[in-house]
Amino acid sequence: MGALIDGKALAANYRAEIKKTIENLISEGKRVPCLAAVIVGNDGGSLYYLNNVMKLCRELGVDCVVNRLEAAIEEAALMQLINNLNSDMNIDGIMMFLPLPSHIDEKKVTSSISYKKDIDCLTDINNGKFYKGERSFVPCTPMSVISLIRSTGVDLEAKHAVVIGRSNIVGKPVAQLLLNENCTVTICHSRSKNLAGICSSADILVSAIGRPGFVTGEFVKDGAIVIDVGTSSVNGKITGDVLYDDVVCKAAFVTPVPGGVGAMTTTMLIKNVCEAYMGNVY
Ligand code: NAP
Repeated sequence: MGALIDGKALAANYRAEIKKTIENLISEGKRVPCLAAVIVGNDGGSLYYLNNVMKLCRELGVDCVVNRLEAAIEEAALMQLINNLNSDMNIDGIMMFLPLPSHIDEKKVTSSISYKKDIDCLTDINNGKFYKGERSFVPCTPMSVISLIRSTGVDLEAKHAVVIGRSNIVGKPVAQLLLNENCTVTICHSRSKNLAGICSSADILVSAIGRPGFVTGEFVKDGAIVIDVGTSSVNGKITGDVLYDDVVCKAAFVTPVPGGVGAMTTTMLIKNVCEAYMGNVY
């Protein structure tokens, strides 16, 4: 029977560290780190995420300035806001919630964020540096995935890692981080053949596709580490890609949904705001 990787517990460790850093800054009479959240319209997923971010900022003592904008806002006005945030010395990180309404060019807007405040690695500068192995911000969900894998204590070098999903925000950066750990990495996607066969040779299996219960026991090698990034709503309940009960008897470690990757992501975001404040990245 595999062990559960507890995202909540791991996140709590990071949070305790962040809290201590903030308390030290306050006791030294210094400014605390500040996140600027920019949200356009009423996307349910974004509002849910924003709420979690605000709650965590309050808990940790990090400042959070929320810029909530009408869905009809013009692109130029949004760009102007980002320019103002870029030059505001009291703002350390900018979080642009996606998706944006269809009349706004998402690429143009995200690219206008200063790379020094781009805490979720949305700009081409941070992306380029990330894939070249240079110091950059690391996107929050992939950083959560790799932190959960590292928390098992398993030596990752030369392990076969299979990532299902090749999106720019999850699959590709997760594969890159596994490559950085000297894993041998295979990326699968919707056109891949013999998925169960490929996955069942993985020492580390990461699923990021958004298909509830897709990864069954036949996908999993005995003793594998299985990370479930998927979050789909099934009858109002958040459900992962991994059929947990089927997989837990074969895997050595497996993340639950909820309480796995998702439990870590917001904490990683705030961690990046602190890194930006400290000047640890740029
Ligand atoms: P996405 O942009 O829709 O990408 C999904 C990927 O899965 C694509 O590469 C797609 O392949 C692949 N795929 C879809 N169906 C497949 C199948 N049947 N077999 C093999 N591959 C398949 O999604 P995303 O943004 O990467 O997110 C993936 C999941 O992670 C979603 O459930 C999302 O809600 C969740 N998520 C969770 C967090 C968190 O913090 N917990 C954060 C972000 C995302 P093609 O490229 O060939 O289309």
